[in-house]
Amino acid sequence: MNPLFKNFVFVILILVIIGGIFSLLYFPATTTNEVSTTQLVSDINGGKIKSITVSGDALAITYNDTKTAVSMKETGTGLTDLLLNLGVNKDNLQKVAITNQAAKQDLWSWLTPLLIFGILPLLVFGFFFWTMIKQSKAGAMQAFDFTKAKARLFGADGHGKEKITFKDVAGLKEAKEELVEIVDFLKFPKKYLAMGAKIPRGVLLVGSAGVGKTLLARAVAGEANVPFLSVSGSEFVEMFVGVGSARVRDLFATAKKSAPSIIFIDELDAIGRHRGAGIGGGHDEREQTLNQILVEMDGFEKETGVIILAATNRPDILDPALLRPGRFDRKIVLDPPDVHDREEILRIHSKDKPLGKDINFKETAERTPGFSGADLANVANEAALLAARQNKTQVDQKEFLEAIEKVLLGPERKSHILSKKEKEIAAYHEAGHALVSTFMPETEPVRKISIIARGMAAGYTLQMPSEERKMRTKTGFVSEIATFLGGCTAERIKFGEMTTGASNDLSRASDMARRLVKEYGMSSLGLIAFGEKEELIFLGKEISEQRNYSEKIAERIDEEVDVIIKGAQKQAEIILIKHRILLDKVAQDLFEKETIEREEFEKLIKGAKK
Ligand code: ADP
Ligand code: ZN
Repeated sequence: MNPLFKNFVFVILILVIIGGIFSLLYFPATTTNEVSTTQLVSDINGGKIKSITVSGDALAITYNDTKTAVSMKETGTGLTDLLLNLGVNKDNLQKVAITNQAAKQDLWSWLTPLLIFGILPLLVFGFFFWTMIKQSKAGAMQAFDFTKAKARLFGADGHGKEKITFKDVAGLKEAKEELVEIVDFLKFPKKYLAMGAKIPRGVLLVGSAGVGKTLLARAVAGEANVPFLSVSGSEFVEMFVGVGSARVRDLFATAKKSAPSIIFIDELDAIGRHRGAGIGGGHDEREQTLNQILVEMDGFEKETGVIILAATNRPDILDPALLRPGRFDRKIVLDPPDVHDREEILRIHSKDKPLGKDINFKETAERTPGFSGADLANVANEAALLAARQNKTQVDQKEFLEAIEKVLLGPERKSHILSKKEKEIAAYHEAGHALVSTFMPETEPVRKISIIARGMAAGYTLQMPSEERKMRTKTGFVSEIATFLGGCTAERIKFGEMTTGASNDLSRASDMARRLVKEYGMSSLGLIAFGEKEELIFLGKEISEQRNYSEKIAERIDEEVDVIIKGAQKQAEIILIKHRILLDKVAQDLFEKETIEREEFEKLIKGAKK
């Protein structure tokens, strides 16, 4: 007999036995007749009932002719209320004697939870392990069908309610233009095949998290009106050896059956890393899954009509075999949205929200450089939540601006209240950042300073460019480093020592200084890039940098970094000492108000010259 079938029968048998035991315990065989609540109501109205005893939700009913019956009521409602709701006659109800009996506290009432929460899971687990051991001995993992790819299928028939098309994807103009061809092929494959044209089989969508890779892939399927099979790379590597490749086989088989169709593999890098890079464990599941994908892709006929889209944010670590012709030979890069795209994304995600007159998507977009599409979708949603919480009937710009900070810094930490001393330190720290930034060259204006603790940061100084920059000068970098150091410098000037609150600033400052020297060639070491980042994969983390320079150079790099940091620190110190009165003023104001907006800050520093 098929072992799978045997196990199945066994499971059913156990369930039946357990079920039998339970029903015996719960419903001891009684022959009392049961009546429905509606029946009960009509009996009361008919004056047939003498008394009702309520015990928990169980009702014991005694009729005038000494007949008895049982019934159940809804949990949580009083019997009288319930009966009145069901339209019982008040006068008739008063004739019925209703007594309340505390629910019976018998043996079963404490034994049942024990059974349900203690013994039953044990049984299930025991059975599970037993089967597994048995199966692995038999050399096959057939007990349960883990091998089916859990592909989420969005049907061809209009993709349910949420059919996504290119209209729903803001920006990403070049990517869309490239994908139009794929859409056309999926729609009219014959046209292309007649020309003997080669259509890419695999397209790699490259972009950071939340730029809309999944969204765009779904839009392609929506435009072409074909089924969309979606799996995530990390799902393949889930459980048991041998499962991943079986799933791949299944996935491709399903796709071929419903061709023309799209397979979407999210997080391709989870399976597609360089083969042979795994450390530890001779048997590499990931590798087998990857091999299976390659085999399936190579085995495709030209006319299959299945196109594979894959998403990754790490194209650099993919196995080169994946990128060969006939596999993922087409690469489409999705850039993070620029200010216009951000405006459009906000618009798309606010479409179904009632908006106030003062809504200014442009302002919101300008304030959110570096936000991904997902972040912006989140902003629009947070804004709506904020408005709803205040029982407003529309979402105003105020909510959008508040939502930006929420998304940027995590939910406000109301529970953590700074002590007076901590608050003062935080105020000087943030005032330090803000003032150094103001008086250094090539910096962006300060938008907001706050010492309300949010997320991980104890306070923050927001400094947002109205348009992000691609190219930067050394002066700009040094200014930024000085700004980072401005926090702890201010603490030292005021209190004589610094606190742990500055540690994040310090690591960011030294990171930047190191990059200046090693990557950008902005030091006396000259125009050389030092260090080659190499992927050494260990426990999923990259840990190595190839040192392509000598010990001596390493020393000089350290020296250069030191010079930059010291220089920036000196500059920060000079600024803060020179503007000491202003520092006190801003810190004091911040201490009182907890947040200072751009206009107020500019008023405070008016008159002070760079
Ligand atoms: P990725 O797959 O790149 O991590 P997703 O495609 O899952 O990102 O994007 C997450 C969400 O962010 C989408 O569901 C969508 O709501 C929003 N989003 C991202 N990019 C865009 C965009 N260009 N236009 C509209 N919405 C977007
Ligand atoms: Zn700081």
